[in-house]
Amino acid sequence: MLAAILKSPGCLELEEVQDPQCPKGGALLEVSACAVCGTDVKMRQMGHKDLAYPRILGHEIVGRIAEIDRDCGLDKGDLVQVWPGIACGKCRPCQREEDNRCQEMKILGFNQDGGFAEMLALPWQCISRGLNLLPKGTDPALAALAEPLACCINGQEMAAVCRGDRVLILGGGPIGSLHALLAEAAGAEKVIVVEQLQSRILQLKRHTNADVISADGNEAEFLDSLEKTIFSETEGARVDVVMLAAPQIHIDSRLFRLLAPGGRICIFSGPGPGNYSELMDLRTIHYRELTITGSYGCSSRQNRKAVELLSSGKIKANWVITKRARLEKINDALNHSADRSGMKSVVCGK
Ligand SMILES: [Zn+2]
Ligand SMILES: [Zn+2]
Repeated sequence: MLAAILKSPGCLELEEVQDPQCPKGGALLEVSACAVCGTDVKMRQMGHKDLAYPRILGHEIVGRIAEIDRDCGLDKGDLVQVWPGIACGKCRPCQREEDNRCQEMKILGFNQDGGFAEMLALPWQCISRGLNLLPKGTDPALAALAEPLACCINGQEMAAVCRGDRVLILGGGPIGSLHALLAEAAGAEKVIVVEQLQSRILQLKRHTNADVISADGNEAEFLDSLEKTIFSETEGARVDVVMLAAPQIHIDSRLFRLLAPGGRICIFSGPGPGNYSELMDLRTIHYRELTITGSYGCSSRQNRKAVELLSSGKIKANWVITKRARLEKINDALNHSADRSGMKSVVCGK
């Protein structure tokens, strides 16, 4: 089969390799679509702490079952979306439906080969909790957005986003866009997205009901002007949730000024080096009853929910896909994500 193999940081090569075998109790997939995550771009450039080389990347996977060694209601030919976690199923987090916190967690495209290939071997652990059967006629590329959407569900559950909330999303890329759609679907009273790039601002205005604010000027001035805008947009009430969906945002207690009492901040994007400092204004946290939370990855339950939201059309995210490429053109797909001109790119199979 053809596979895109990361040999070392900076060295991604397309190669013919041997087809994987169907693992005992597992399945073999023919990959139909694998979306590019910001992490894939980062890993192509500079590797990742959880990577062993050589590695096939890609963890936002949809494929057709070519072989399955388990009686589980799924058959050869079924189109499935894959939760990329390989969880033990036995530890305390796994037993509590928090399998993204599994004590022995491994992830496809990180610790095991992922979806930027024609075929993918799924170990037995993936079968019971990790495969979501898709309805006939599903666009595999759209279904590949289920994993990043599920990560957003995790972030919004951690920040307890609910009906009537005012939600501020800092960063309007693919993840910020999915957060905006999700917050709208959750019944948020107001969604505000802050973004730098004009092309993305236009997309967000066209396809969401969010108020989109252009982020320009230097950062210190920007936060002051953002505070004024938020103040006037909410008649002085400020927002209930701040979702950090851009790694370059400097995180410190000035963000508290944007929050209403009882407000929540979710550190969704992994902050870049030097982009975080003191968030320990404990007096303000106490008097204004603030919550600071983080989120990383998604559970298989959240992944199932994301598939349902996309399949039912409750979330319309087609527009978030701005490039489709064949595996042979994987570098174009990664570059589209890296240059941030559009939103999300998806590598599509035959
Ligand atoms: Zn991802
Ligand atoms: Zn576990």
